[in-house]
Amino acid sequence: MDASGFSGSAPEADSSPSTAHLSGTAYLSGVKAARGLRRRARVPVAARAFWRRAWAFRGLDITAAMASTSCLVVAPHPDDETLGCAAAIMRKRAAGVPVTVAIVSDGAGGASAVETSGQLSEVRRREAVRACARLGVDEGDVVFLDFPDTALDQHLDEVAAALARLVGSRTPRQILVPTSCEGHPDHDASHEAVRRAVQASGFRGEILEYTVWLWTHWPWTVGHGTGRWTARRLLLAPIRRVSELRPLLVDARGLREHQKQALAEHVTQTGPAVPSRGDAAVARAAGGGSALVPPPLSGSLLAVLESRYEIYVPAGSLRHLDFDRPWRATVASVATSRTADEQASPRATAGPG
Ligand SMILES: [Zn+2]
Repeated sequence: MDASGFSGSAPEADSSPSTAHLSGTAYLSGVKAARGLRRRARVPVAARAFWRRAWAFRGLDITAAMASTSCLVVAPHPDDETLGCAAAIMRKRAAGVPVTVAIVSDGAGGASAVETSGQLSEVRRREAVRACARLGVDEGDVVFLDFPDTALDQHLDEVAAALARLVGSRTPRQILVPTSCEGHPDHDASHEAVRRAVQASGFRGEILEYTVWLWTHWPWTVGHGTGRWTARRLLLAPIRRVSELRPLLVDARGLREHQKQALAEHVTQTGPAVPSRGDAAVARAAGGGSALVPPPLSGSLLAVLESRYEIYVPAGSLRHLDFDRPWRATVASVATSRTADEQASPRATAGPG
């Protein structure tokens, strides 16, 4: 998850991003972003939840296939595996199916009262191990790649190489990766790194995209933050989003409480408001009136945990909603090439959910 990596391209988040670890002009843009996010936060979380249910109503239930397929979960930060894939992971592990969780960044950029980035990284590592244990994943199957938080886009080839090695050693039949249009730079970079890793490793399995930050701007992804909340935007854009793609559903009923317990292990991300680390002036400038940083998880990010299904999409199917990223100027339309074509017609094992 980790809100601290947001820049001017932040989506319509309903949880305020932390200003920790921003500096100079980034501070100023962070202050503006925080004001904008608070303003846009008035868009009701309930509206997103409504359209999410409408989308799921058109979905294809892949619960059985998901539970029987070994996988590599690529999590940009410690906690993304729990937020995005908990139901799938728990179902796989209950069936005795191998799951490897690769946590790409060191998590040092998250909001916390922990004194230093190095200490925070170590704390979040232990949190992730405990959370994954609650999901049924052994400590030996949680792999920390330790790339710098909020800067994964500067290490794309190295991340891709590390993931390709992991694919080679763990031989998963499936990779779960954040959507291409999450909006968070680290999440979008992780998606791109997987695309490169797949090309490099010759992976022939299935790739599905999971959702974390998508829920803070979907279904108004296109033109996010630039339009007024007119009836046309509140109705027509969602109807288009819901109708253009049938999502893939994993039944989460009976698993949400366990997921919440796992999420609670990420104490630095879910605990009470904490003092920010040395940026009290920025917090005041942002209008907060104090140096307290609220826990990053709120709003639509947590509303998902009340829903019946965990939602996935075929690799590459949301590329038309991608945010501008430097690397996309060179890769353009070939993103997730083979896998997108192969999975244009997602497999389903049961009727509509
Ligand atoms: Zn994240």
